Amino acid sequence: MGLADIKTFKHLENDVISVNRCCACGACIAYCENQAFNVIEMKNYTPQFKTDKSVENCKECGYCYYICPQTEPLLDRLKEIHLVKDEIGNIIDIFAAKTTNEQIKKVGQDGGIVSTLLTYLFDTNNIDAAIVSEYDENYKPIPKIIYSKDELVRSAGTRYSISSNILPLKDLTQIAEDIISQKKRIYDADQLRIAFIGTPCQCRAISKMKLLNIKPAHVISIVIGLFCFENFDYDKLMDTLKSKSQINPSEIKKTNIKKNFFVTSKDDSVKEVNIKDLDDAVRNHCHECDEFVGKFSDLSIGASGAPTGYSMILTRTEKGRSLIDSLLATGYIERYIIPANQISEWRPKKINWLKKMTSLKVKK
Ligand SMILES: Cc1cc2nc3c(=O)[nH]c(=O)nc-3n(C[C@H](O)[C@H](O)[C@H](O)COP(=O)(O)OP(=O)(O)OC[C@H]3O[C@@H](n4cnc5c(N)ncnc54)[C@H](O)[C@@H]3O)c2cc1C
Repeated sequence: MGLADIKTFKHLENDVISVNRCCACGACIAYCENQAFNVIEMKNYTPQFKTDKSVENCKECGYCYYICPQTEPLLDRLKEIHLVKDEIGNIIDIFAAKTTNEQIKKVGQDGGIVSTLLTYLFDTNNIDAAIVSEYDENYKPIPKIIYSKDELVRSAGTRYSISSNILPLKDLTQIAEDIISQKKRIYDADQLRIAFIGTPCQCRAISKMKLLNIKPAHVISIVIGLFCFENFDYDKLMDTLKSKSQINPSEIKKTNIKKNFFVTSKDDSVKEVNIKDLDDAVRNHCHECDEFVGKFSDLSIGASGAPTGYSMILTRTEKGRSLIDSLLATGYIERYIIPANQISEWRPKKINWLKKMTSLKVKK
């Protein structure tokens, strides 16, 4: 491949952004800023050149194109590395579990596994920070770097709109400085250990960066993927919820999908919105996504297939497996006990279910 063949941000604009295929993960910007090229930014969920001058200043290195989760290059190699042989990827173990932490039980979306994992990683000093998602006052998801388990309560629960979780990685120096000021500890930004939580598309971008061994993915020490059937455009979702359930964004306490879309307001009343009414609010990039459980992570976590109150956990790498083993051994989480008469059929049944959900997503 000659230099002239290298795909640049202009190609990304043509092939992904202008045709509404961008998932707004923020990988292109986080990479560009880490190289101090600083030519692109995120505006209204859309990566774009900062100024007209930025077009000339673009180094045309091509990395933004290759690490984009919506582009084809690197995917075959990624599958090889992650031992992906089918639509749900490599699975070492699959089981259901729930948190034993009473506070997380109240705020977690399902089994509270993600927040408990992060609690354990902070407690055992295995991470310096985690990238999660919080809400602003209008129930809009915002990506957030957190530095302690005390901040986990605000981030627990599922946000059914984009949270550009890779974007905060654009400024590792700031993250290191935050740690220095909060924990009074000197930190080299390149030595940070950050847990990443994200949807399958976001995990795909992190994995592409790791494959190329480029910043800022070098500071991601564990990748926790969430199951994801689809995600919604924030404005369209809120407009539909307002018209169908007369609920304002600032009044929402929790949202949940169980066949239909359920909205719990701050006075604890629950309203149900037909999921079909939200079809027009689904983000366009989700229509072409073939990942339901996410294949490129250390662990995948979701509700689908788990008994109520539990989460389904797929361990995918040795790192993911040993982390979950530690959580079980230390009592942070408890495993769902499969009834004796279902033991032999449980695993194949759950795997089939996840494959079925994946093909349903692809068909939709
Ligand atoms: C858009 C979306 C769609 C989903 N669809 C399905 C589905 O169809 N079927 C299914 O079984 N599971 C789905 N999930 C996953 C599920 O809702 C739970 O997130 C998962 O079961 C973990 O629950 P928990 O109680 O262990 O997590 P918790 O302890 O509640 O922690 C959840 C974590 O996810 C992070 N998070 C929340 N929203 C986002 C977001 N938009 N982007 C990135 N990170 C986020 C939070 O910051 C928190 O760290 C979806 C998740 C998302 C974000």
